Amino acid sequence: ARPLEQMKLRARFDLAVTLTRAGKGFTMTEQPIAIDRTPLRLQGLAGSSLYRSARAAGAPAKVVETYMKALASRMSVGREVKRADSFDLIIERERAATGETRLGRLLYAGLDRGGRKVQLARLPGEDDGDWYDVNGQTQKRGAMGMPVAGRITSSFGKRMHPVLGFMRMHKGLDIGAPRGTPIHAIMDGVVQFAGRSGGYGNFVKLAHGGGIASGYGHMSRFVVRSGARVKQGQVIGYVGSTGMSTGPHLHWEVWKNGATVNPRSLKLSSVAVLSGAKLRAFRHAVQQLMAVKPGR
Ligand SMILES: [Zn+2]
Repeated sequence: ARPLEQMKLRARFDLAVTLTRAGKGFTMTEQPIAIDRTPLRLQGLAGSSLYRSARAAGAPAKVVETYMKALASRMSVGREVKRADSFDLIIERERAATGETRLGRLLYAGLDRGGRKVQLARLPGEDDGDWYDVNGQTQKRGAMGMPVAGRITSSFGKRMHPVLGFMRMHKGLDIGAPRGTPIHAIMDGVVQFAGRSGGYGNFVKLAHGGGIASGYGHMSRFVVRSGARVKQGQVIGYVGSTGMSTGPHLHWEVWKNGATVNPRSLKLSSVAVLSGAKLRAFRHAVQQLMAVKPGR
């Protein structure tokens, strides 16, 4: 048997190691491998299947899935994507001087829809976070969802008050639903108030970003406390008829910068979320991404 004289191995993507016999043992030398971290940018036409076209362009399946999910936060991917729309993906990439390439996460999700662009990126360091529009807003599609499964029994505006019997401004929407139906937070926020509040009965008020607040009245009971953080869709209480009410329903009120607005008129698209240092960091990252040239 011959003794081992030298052994080379790839210890890491960016590091090779050589072991050389020296007396009774070995000495180890490290050879760092230079890595180019320029991301990969893939562009092309959606064609008959956006998914297949992006895959064919060279994007890994996992990355395309992330891309489709990101788009779905802004549009109905199944119905709205046209053949002539073009995709634009920027993917994390490492290229070793020794020739190997490794693809990572999706950094940018773009879709050009004949001039109307969807352009989404994540906040640096928030790998699983929300997708922000390049201007720094999480712009969700369409009108705000309803906090309760039910039907609108009284809309926003002047009306004959059902208990008081005279014309009065109705500052919210009434949604009729059986007692005990769960009430969901319409957006992420912080509980500003949870307790009895005159005619509102059991009342919860949530403060959201961008000067938006929402209130929920006549609850049979509430299940959040003042100061608690709530996520969009989280149950905050149950439909009831407490306070000045003629039957089980939710009185839902929305404020923008302190003034009540028609909840149905509030588009999620108007909600800005990034500001200050976060917005600056985001803009800087987006600027660098947009400078990446398409191609392999
Ligand atoms: Zn009402």
